[in-house]
Amino acid sequence: MSSKRDYYEVLGVSKNSTADEIKKAYRKVAMKYHPDRNPGDHSAEEKFKEAAEAYEILSDSDKRAQYDRFGHNAFGPGRGGGGFSGQGMNMDDIFSQFGDIFGDDMFGGFFSGGSRSGGGRRSHGTRGTNLRVRIKVNYEEIAKGTSKTIKVKKYIRCTNCGGSGAKDKNSSQTCKTCGGNGQVRRVQNTFLGQMQTVTTCPDCNGEGSVITSKCTACRGEGRVYGEETVTLDIPAGVQEGMQLSMSGKGNVGERGGGPGDLVILIEEEPHPYLHREGLNVGHDLYLSFTDVVFGTQIEVPTIDGRAKIKIPPGTQSGKIFRLKGKGFPSVNSYEKGDQLIQVNVWTPQNISETEKATLESLQDSENFKPKPDKNDKTFWEKIKETFS
Ligand SMILES: [Zn+2]
Ligand SMILES: [Zn+2]
Repeated sequence: MSSKRDYYEVLGVSKNSTADEIKKAYRKVAMKYHPDRNPGDHSAEEKFKEAAEAYEILSDSDKRAQYDRFGHNAFGPGRGGGGFSGQGMNMDDIFSQFGDIFGDDMFGGFFSGGSRSGGGRRSHGTRGTNLRVRIKVNYEEIAKGTSKTIKVKKYIRCTNCGGSGAKDKNSSQTCKTCGGNGQVRRVQNTFLGQMQTVTTCPDCNGEGSVITSKCTACRGEGRVYGEETVTLDIPAGVQEGMQLSMSGKGNVGERGGGPGDLVILIEEEPHPYLHREGLNVGHDLYLSFTDVVFGTQIEVPTIDGRAKIKIPPGTQSGKIFRLKGKGFPSVNSYEKGDQLIQVNVWTPQNISETEKATLESLQDSENFKPKPDKNDKTFWEKIKETFS
């Protein structure tokens, strides 16, 4: 344990670097030592794992704080710090972490997939790990729901052996230890007398058979690192940070182990003219002084095309118009929000001499002096009323 390198040193960052700097540094190191780029290079693989482990700790503010206080001892066997054993991560953990860190690069063909060597301690026939991907959706897509087809780099079933990991039918044998049923019985002496316990067979890991000759395409793993095209159905009304899970679309497990899930993390793309307030959509409308005095008809953007609204003569700045039902749908009910349009009167910043003269002639006019009515609610009252 004590021979471990300092996590900050591993990533080449200083102790007071920001989360973003750590992420960037990890990206760089992971790219450099990625197994796809260094086929068969054992020391690169070690460095790759070392970096992943350092990132696992330093990217988590709680774990990072513990590490800063106690160093590697924070995660030693005695302390059980956050379930991290300090024995290094296996390749599945690392690749499943990639969806978060590399985001769209995963689909940009940064990694060719293919070569990777085993991580030593692995269990057979277990379920594959979950994969996470970030998906960007814009307001129009959120309004109606959408489907997106993406390419996901992940472990897929080896077609050569059908996932068994065996070279052919004859290279798999019934496990001698358990006689093929995958379980072994043990008799233990306890203070209550003899007790029989049933545990998973250690020799075949519960599979009931052992491989005598491995499939050459997957080296006995039953799966290869590859790519799958997945169509994601994104329902209407999703929100930033929401997670959708697609069962069975994650990494397949080794030797016929079932697949994990694909977890989709929703990212909202900001809209140039609209902003989201829960189910409601807000819009700042800028009108000229003459438009609010004379009244006008104007088109505004909505999440579903454009809509016309009528501005009555004498409209005050700050007035909020409501387009009922033009907000976002709720993801789990029939509820729908509204669009709220707030009027802002635009003050000209550059005016000509003639314009100036015209305005000066109006300056002392009685009609142009502010006369707020008791019924004219303040901006804050209106906001309260609109959102309650
Ligand atoms: Zn195979
Ligand atoms: Zn067995």
